[in-house]
Amino acid sequence: MPVTRALFNEVMVPNYNPAAIIPVRGEGSRVWDQEGQEFVDFAGGIAVSCLGHCHPAMVNALTEQANKLWHLSNVMTNEPALRLAKKLTDATFAERVYFANSGAEANEAALKLARRWALDNFGEQKNQIIAFNKGFHGRTFFTVTVGGQEAYSDGFGPKPGAIEHVDYNDLASLEAVMSDQTCAVMIEPLQGEGGVVPADQAFLEGVRALCDKHNALLIFDEVQTGFGRTGSLYAYEQTGVTPDILATAKALGGGFPIGAMLTTAEIAEHLKVGTHGSTYGGNPLACAVSEAVMDVVNTPEVLEGVKAKEQLFRNALNAINEKHNVFTEVRGQGLLLGAALNENFKGKARDFLVASAEEGLMVLVAGTDVVRFTPSLIISEDDITEGMARFEKAVAKVVAAQQAS
Ligand SMILES: *Cc1c(COP(=O)(O)O)cnc(C)c1O
Repeated sequence: MPVTRALFNEVMVPNYNPAAIIPVRGEGSRVWDQEGQEFVDFAGGIAVSCLGHCHPAMVNALTEQANKLWHLSNVMTNEPALRLAKKLTDATFAERVYFANSGAEANEAALKLARRWALDNFGEQKNQIIAFNKGFHGRTFFTVTVGGQEAYSDGFGPKPGAIEHVDYNDLASLEAVMSDQTCAVMIEPLQGEGGVVPADQAFLEGVRALCDKHNALLIFDEVQTGFGRTGSLYAYEQTGVTPDILATAKALGGGFPIGAMLTTAEIAEHLKVGTHGSTYGGNPLACAVSEAVMDVVNTPEVLEGVKAKEQLFRNALNAINEKHNVFTEVRGQGLLLGAALNENFKGKARDFLVASAEEGLMVLVAGTDVVRFTPSLIISEDDITEGMARFEKAVAKVVAAQQAS
């Protein structure tokens, strides 16, 4: 049976509209489609493939574990899960870990834990959750409602309640809605999907102070910023602001599905036996891969390499911009970078993505006005140079089409 893009429309729910090509193989930061066409990968899925494709450490960990033990359920624990949890707690503020299978599930656990913590400690009136416009926290009904884009949460009937939104980087608005009824504030330290928008340092410090003042928990959603992406294992380390709960996924598995919620021992107490769970969460395969990824990522070589590669990306993007004048700025941190389109190209981020694919380059967008780059954390200088040469051709194409219209 020929597997084609056309088959997608025949057999799949239409919630996605995937590209025309079907990739079949990847190695490092290169990917090949069914026709053998090669792509440089500046996307890494969506900030997932932090060691590129088929990194030997991941392949070894997966195949080794695959020959030992795949699954037990949480009726029993397993060695890879405990080893990974130990490494995560040793490397962060956290003392306890809950494993899930995705970012949304890690955030769902964080939100449920916050509600339970507040109920146990203060009573049921303390249930307000505050999050930020344009924030993204996943697609379960709770997390998508906490996310700051109504387009994603509308149309599914009654939503979970007591959730408020204010503008990102607007401390006065947050202060105005916060009270002793606030149970938690959920925030990305750098908004990914919302346009690669960094939080101001003073704002994050202010959020922490308001949470302390009102006895509310601060939840950092580091699903996109975490696991080396910004040049430290977690982005919070570079802000000087420590959350009470942290959600991590995406790069955590390097391409194998896994998510985790990290927190303190004191807060963790409130997820007592039976209060929450997952069939697959913390399964040996996912945890074995994640442990191998962490052993590579959480090293000075890789984390400092992220900052060096960020500079290469910024230099190349600035050079392209000097020639073609398409961006207002390049923003973000580490290898989570966004090139914001100027007035002439507003709303056209997708055109850049499509033109890039035609030139053999995978990039992402963040909204309609930002081209996003989230490559492997260990992408080689050669791959960056080649990818940027292709990106420049794509930019020139979009500019030419614009001038012709
Ligand atoms: C991708 C993302 C999520 C959702 O993760 P899934 O694994 O798709 O559920 C949540 N929060 C942020 C910040 C993300 O970037």
